[in-house]
Amino acid sequence: MDSNFCLFQTNSPRATRSLAMNLAKRLQPGDVITLEGDLGAGKTTFMQGVGKGLGIEAPIDSPTFTLIKEYEQGRIPLYHMDVYRLDSTVEELGWDEYFYGEGVTFVEWASRIQPLLPEDVIRIEIVRQENEVRMIKVEPPVNEVERICKGLSINEIAGD
Ligand code: ADP
Ligand code: MG
Repeated sequence: MDSNFCLFQTNSPRATRSLAMNLAKRLQPGDVITLEGDLGAGKTTFMQGVGKGLGIEAPIDSPTFTLIKEYEQGRIPLYHMDVYRLDSTVEELGWDEYFYGEGVTFVEWASRIQPLLPEDVIRIEIVRQENEVRMIKVEPPVNEVERICKGLSINEIAGD
């Protein structure tokens, strides 16, 4: 691949879920994904697609008040963290059991625990443009660009 990231524009929540669903199918145990974007950008919407792509039936909602939510019933476990309320002094929470465990970990507000993150993460950034348009950048570790980005696309029919 020519570049070390892939870039998408979605025009609806459905398109964002579709992209996320297709991305989720490429994930492997031990993947850590940081999910960045302002309030209302579409992080929760994206996570709904991830849940669908992993075959999780339970609705994915925001873990803001719980720090972490675990979903065990899909193809691989999903750990969904929102560390907004934490800072990097919080080191004794057993992070590595998630980051190096059997599931995939999505971290919202990951910059707050930057020193605790593994070196290799898949960075996803959602930027709100006008109305229903979002720019979604997916930046895997350099040696994982093929696995994550190659052929990754939006197919809206499957987005709900
Ligand atoms: P966050 O979790 O980042 O705060 P949410 O996913 O909860 O954001 O909210 C995103 C809002 O923007 C939802 O109301 C959703 O319907 C709307 N929206 C409009 N267009 C899009 C799009 N292309 N992708 C994702 N969400 C969109
Ligand atoms: Mg949210």
